[in-house]
Amino acid sequence: MSHWLGIALFFAALVASIAIRAPHERRSKSTKIAQSRKGSLENALLGLMGVAVLALPLIFATSNWLSFADYPLTSTSFTFGAIFVALWLWLFYRSHADLGTNWSVSLELREDHRLITNGVYARVRHPMYTSLFCHAAAQGLLLANWIAGPAMLVAFTQMFLARFTREERMMREKFGEDYAGYSARTKRLVPGIW
Ligand code: SAH
Repeated sequence: MSHWLGIALFFAALVASIAIRAPHERRSKSTKIAQSRKGSLENALLGLMGVAVLALPLIFATSNWLSFADYPLTSTSFTFGAIFVALWLWLFYRSHADLGTNWSVSLELREDHRLITNGVYARVRHPMYTSLFCHAAAQGLLLANWIAGPAMLVAFTQMFLARFTREERMMREKFGEDYAGYSARTKRLVPGIW
């Protein structure tokens, strides 16, 4: 099938995810930060994510610079890509709604930070990261190019590995027994598995 269908669905989903985040981004500017653990590695990885999620897909869609790495899009990968898009956007929406003003793009604690353990956070501790892995899978399945497709998976895996233990340590230091208990009854990314 035409690789344009994959590109169209991917960019439609990307625009939807930006729209889901926009009000939280705006509101987070007015919620004061009490503590930040955003280091230079974190900044570099956020930059890498920008390249992986926007720059490479745009280059793939608008030029032939990456065409040496193109391959044909199949209807099977398009179908699975569409399923991952649905999971990505649903979980992205739900996790932002449940975290509310406690959300930050980086490792930060807000003033009056509350520990959220309800909604999708009752099932896993990192549902937003699960949604970003679904985004990575969707990108890989929809963009039929060996560079633009896997880019988000490579970048976000680095980000996740650099972040999740530090994030959990920060939460344990702030919320003590409450976070320890919450961790004991939840998995990280996939309910019942890990
Ligand atoms: N790791 C979570 C949240 C990502 S946003 C997820 O994948 O869904 C990152 C910020 O969320 C962190 O800086 C931390 O301040 C905050 N956070 C993470 N888990 C939280 C929780 N259960 N309750 C409240 N804030 C949380």
